[in-house]
Amino acid sequence: MLDLQVSSKISPELLAKYDVAGPRYTSYPAVPDWNGAPDAAGWATQLRALGRQREPIALYVHLPFCAAQCLYCGCNATVTTRAEIVDRYLSRLRIELDMLARAMGERPRVAEMHWGGGTPNFLSDAQLATLHDMLLTTFELGAHTESSLEADPRLTTRSQMRMLRQLGFTRVSFGVQDLDPVVQEAIGRVQPRAMVQDAVTLAREEGFTGINFDLIYGLPHQTPDRFAATVEDSLAMRPDRIACFGYAHVPWMRAHQRRIDAQALPNGAERFALFRDAVQRFVGAGYEWIGIDHFALPTDALTKAMHHGVLHRNFMGYTTQHSPHLLGVGVSAISAVNGWFVQNAPQLGEWQRQIDRGALPVAGGHIQQGDDQGRGAAITHLMCHAALPASLFPVDREAMQALYAPLVDDGLVTFDATGMQATDQGRWLLRNLAFPLDAYRASRAAEQLAQQSAEHSVGLVRQGTASHPGMPAVHPPRFSQAV
Ligand code: SF4
Repeated sequence: MLDLQVSSKISPELLAKYDVAGPRYTSYPAVPDWNGAPDAAGWATQLRALGRQREPIALYVHLPFCAAQCLYCGCNATVTTRAEIVDRYLSRLRIELDMLARAMGERPRVAEMHWGGGTPNFLSDAQLATLHDMLLTTFELGAHTESSLEADPRLTTRSQMRMLRQLGFTRVSFGVQDLDPVVQEAIGRVQPRAMVQDAVTLAREEGFTGINFDLIYGLPHQTPDRFAATVEDSLAMRPDRIACFGYAHVPWMRAHQRRIDAQALPNGAERFALFRDAVQRFVGAGYEWIGIDHFALPTDALTKAMHHGVLHRNFMGYTTQHSPHLLGVGVSAISAVNGWFVQNAPQLGEWQRQIDRGALPVAGGHIQQGDDQGRGAAITHLMCHAALPASLFPVDREAMQALYAPLVDDGLVTFDATGMQATDQGRWLLRNLAFPLDAYRASRAAEQLAQQSAEHSVGLVRQGTASHPGMPAVHPPRFSQAV
């Protein structure tokens, strides 16, 4: 049984040592280490193979539109008030789906479908139905498909929830973030608690059986009391799952974040304290801690999957389905098929241009090579189970123990005959525990070291490199951070 009190014994020095930016490992290698766009012919071959195989797949649909810009946003989003822009997007999505259907030659069966954004429920009821019909022509969707979507409580209506239930959706993730009025004002997203409660009530009344909340710690003006109130108010609404993400302040990547007062952001130690208090409240209220930052009721499928050792992780985050293949459609969507990671053009204009040219809108990617798959499997297991069986060690035991010696010394992991486990202390730094398994990170660090010593030798020490030392701890923008 996890001893949560251990967290209070983590020293500020240890926290500072591990307060470093790094990926969330929804893929391995992580996106910044991908080796470039795959060739079109090779990708077509993979899609053909995907159509022939009989295992059900996972499907992600990206809907980038939002009614207003949230200042903390790290997602691929386009702010608009014009419904016809969505219609035009759906027309092109239909073309992308037709191209995929031709490439696959068959309608793959879908075990798990997620609509993310942007704000999927920015679409009108008619647009939601049209989109679902379009998907049905390319994929086999039905009672066997677990369908979920992200939703903005400010745009949630009864007719919309009813429509989505009729389309087979059973789980909705509401972007709650923080319920404090001062924080909401500072992040440009005002949605009073009563509005969130109404959205939850509507969804439940219309038959949604899975309610997820996304919360964010590390936002401007968050104090321990304010965030504790957000957590308690959220718990009172009893969502089935809660994801509690750290805010990624990356104004050099997301210009709108410059409107956030950096002076009002909690520092690294304060962020950890916010997260620690939230975890204790979640667990105290009967939720189980899953992976890095997810919490679920014991009755939820995610908790059961964790206990049965079948919890999985992909670009959509933690999941109960271990679909070996994920197909992403829409701007910026990522697919993972047979060790091929392929990302669609991340900018709406480029995605449109490629589709208008009659080409699959592929912009980047990576083909797993060497020991990528073995290391990826090890990292995924560690991110899901806070432990690594010896059978998944990507190097021999001696090398593993050498690799992890500093973390053993810091009391974060232990080794025994079965493998490696996170300690109660290490459980709080789960993402960091994956870093030694990341060969790309290691080679980048070695390159930087070599470069720095070369620069030292000619008196050119750079200040403020890509890792932005001195910034609050950040997670790089994720596949679908928060709506
Ligand atoms: S946080 Fe969500 S709703 Fe807000 S701008 Fe980003 S994608 Fe849109």
